[in-house]
Amino acid sequence: MWCVVRICGVEGVSVIDYPGRVASVLFLGGCNFRCPFCHNPELVLHPELQPNHDLADILAQIQRRKSLVDGAVVTGGEPLIHEEALLALLSRLRDAGLLVKLDTNGYEVETLRKVLSTGLVNFVAMDVKTSLGKYEAAAGRRLDAENIRDAIAAIVHAGVDREFRTTCVPGLVEADDVQSIASLLGPGEDYVLQQFRATSPMIDHAHATFKPHSADTLRSFAETVHPLVRSVTLRGE
Ligand code: SF4
Repeated sequence: MWCVVRICGVEGVSVIDYPGRVASVLFLGGCNFRCPFCHNPELVLHPELQPNHDLADILAQIQRRKSLVDGAVVTGGEPLIHEEALLALLSRLRDAGLLVKLDTNGYEVETLRKVLSTGLVNFVAMDVKTSLGKYEAAAGRRLDAENIRDAIAAIVHAGVDREFRTTCVPGLVEADDVQSIASLLGPGEDYVLQQFRATSPMIDHAHATFKPHSADTLRSFAETVHPLVRSVTLRGE
């Protein structure tokens, strides 16, 4: 299948992006959200100004590292906005013998269902931004938050390896929000709480001045949600 999706960035070897695997990471441009705390404003807002890496070259490099690299992570931006072109890319990666992980915000839930039904992804990591009532503030746009509930259900139902994660942005993500998210996930799921990093640039520059939650606060969030999910992991506290 021909692949026309623009690959704006590549990290050849990563040991942190695909749990238990050594993976190459492919960054696709563009996103359907405008999260004020987004660390990749150029990739999200101006994908046309980013590099356009050739997939054949990327696959050749992966082939040369085959004894080391056994996975590929497709991330963004938001990969699901690329629809058929994303499917073509996933197919090429699987044909290359790689295990494939998809990072997504889940909002394009019909495309997500289509991707899951193909069996082309082995692992899905979904960013759950906050509780459904605050979702528009976290995503920076009007939206139907029921898509988020549906995306979680689709991923769980598909039975793929998965991870749900939330970046704990002060104000957008507080104790009652993580509790609400954990209730959405349910007792069979692994939940990751990530520390917010106030670094520039961000889509909303004001967020670069926010003081992150303290490590104690993140630990108290973890204690709050612990009874509601299978496991809680703190990342970057
Ligand atoms: S943080 Fe938000 S705006 Fe940035 S890439 Fe992720 S979903 Fe898109």
